[in-house]
Amino acid sequence: TKGDVKGCFIKNAFVIFTVAAVIVGTILGFALRPYKMSYREVKMFSFPGELLMRMLQMLVLPLLVSSLITGMAALDSRASGKMGMRAVVYYTTTTIIAVFIGIVLVLIIHPGKGSKDEFTKQQQVEQVNTADAFLDLIRLCDVLSLSSKFKTQYAKKVVVVKVTVNDTIFTLNDSQEITQVEMIPVPGSVNGVNALGMVVFSIFFGLIIGSMGEQGKPLKDFFDCLNEAIMRLVAIIMWYAPIGILFLIAGKIVEMDDISAMGGQLGMYTLTVICGLLIHAICVLPTLYFVITRKNPFVFIAGLLQALITALGTSSSSATLPITFKCLEENNKVDKRVTRFVLPVGATINMDGTALYEALAAIFIAQVNDLDLNFGQILTISITATAASIGAAGIPQAGLVTMVIVLTSVGLPTDDITLIIAVDWFLDRLRTTTNVLGDSIGAGIVEHLSRHELQKKDPEVGHSVVEE
Ligand code: ASP
Repeated sequence: TKGDVKGCFIKNAFVIFTVAAVIVGTILGFALRPYKMSYREVKMFSFPGELLMRMLQMLVLPLLVSSLITGMAALDSRASGKMGMRAVVYYTTTTIIAVFIGIVLVLIIHPGKGSKDEFTKQQQVEQVNTADAFLDLIRLCDVLSLSSKFKTQYAKKVVVVKVTVNDTIFTLNDSQEITQVEMIPVPGSVNGVNALGMVVFSIFFGLIIGSMGEQGKPLKDFFDCLNEAIMRLVAIIMWYAPIGILFLIAGKIVEMDDISAMGGQLGMYTLTVICGLLIHAICVLPTLYFVITRKNPFVFIAGLLQALITALGTSSSSATLPITFKCLEENNKVDKRVTRFVLPVGATINMDGTALYEALAAIFIAQVNDLDLNFGQILTISITATAASIGAAGIPQAGLVTMVIVLTSVGLPTDDITLIIAVDWFLDRLRTTTNVLGDSIGAGIVEHLSRHELQKKDPEVGHSVVEE
């Protein structure tokens, strides 16, 4: 009946709008490309997207802290210990599998075949290292956007300025005579705060509050309420999300470099990464979910659609965190005591896509330099890629920056990161989506494995687990 159709539409409205946003954003982006907007115009055009980014980012830290604290306080220490163990085993296993897929693919496909000179010329890359002073850089940026002389001098070149003082990397991309200034912030921090430190602190703080019994109740209630209030804000932001995503995607398509430069090694490299991420996201993770829970993984993934698309739009798994919470708790009915622990920790340390990408990219750079890696070096790459993915925060292009660790571990030239910078914005979105999927499926699996402990105690937080 008409009522049913309407009910169904309202229920799925978020998903419908979000998918529509991706499609419209892509079309709009390509339609506007011929107009060759200036850097400033692109930034103004993308403003509604930037707004979404900031709204989500604003919520991440309070959400992370309040969910972890209440999550830990709601479980007795034995239950949380067991759940923590399961989560850690899941994170480690899936990250190792991801790294393995990346390495096998890059070795088989060998995208780095061919001469490096050709490749470098294609990329027209120039490196500028500045050891001292952030201020110089600001001045440089000012000069870049003001003086046309400087612009023509650097036309069609990617200038990477490394600033050690503030741990910030700026990419000054002066292609098509438009000056783009992109900032890649410190890899381990979200909004300038050390996310991993925050996670560790919140876990212990929550455990302590939980162990205090009656006395700890006011604090527990406080963080519970904070968490609830933030989730209500998220519910409002979700209505705006499709608009933001539309402009984020359209804006990026408008400003991206010409795709024609994508031939040869870089193109093959991009395909290899896409292939690896797809294998991990569509085969490995769903199979794991099915084997352990005996439930249909694709029904579970369908419930996550909005989170996955937000990840694609924002290329930040921590900015996506609020939406991931909503999807898992409301669509997939995952127990809140599980999501509150598994999601914030996962968004901070569990990044399958990033691990896969870093291992693959490092070996690609070796291939471009015509270096044969022995087994020991490949092992080193897999270990450091795992570490680098743990260290990377869930912010745009953090993985590109932490790759320095992987490259230095086997003596590969870190400057060659610039070779892959041109496609990183795109691959970043895909690996972020894989990261969010990994965290979410982890929540589903940990919930299933912890169902007995969850049934026992604490009706206060979350849904009781419904046995199938
Ligand atoms: N952008 C990714 C994320 O937020 C991290 C990365 O750069 O790989 O998950």
